[in-house]
Amino acid sequence: MTLSAAATQFEEPRERIRIAWLELTCLPCGEVAGYIEDERLVRPVYPGGIRLERGKPRCGRCGALLFGGWRGVATSREGIG
Ligand SMILES: [Zn+2]
Repeated sequence: MTLSAAATQFEEPRERIRIAWLELTCLPCGEVAGYIEDERLVRPVYPGGIRLERGKPRCGRCGALLFGGWRGVATSREGIG
C-alpha cells in the first residue's frame, strides 16, 4: 500500500464496482489489521487478523480495539488501501 497506489485508484472509471473501504489499525501493534468493505464485509490482511466482539472489531493478535484510519472508495479489490 503506497500513496501512489491510492492516487491511481480513481483512474479507471470503466469499472462499475465501487467498494467503500475503511482501514482498521491496531495502535498497540502499529499495524493495519484489515479493512471493512461497504461497512459490513470485514477483510483482515492476514488470517485471524480481525475478530469481532459484540460487533466491535478487535485485533486478532493483541485484542485491542481497532481504530478506523484511512477510508476511500475503490473500483476494485486491488484498489483497496
Ligand atoms: Zn494488535
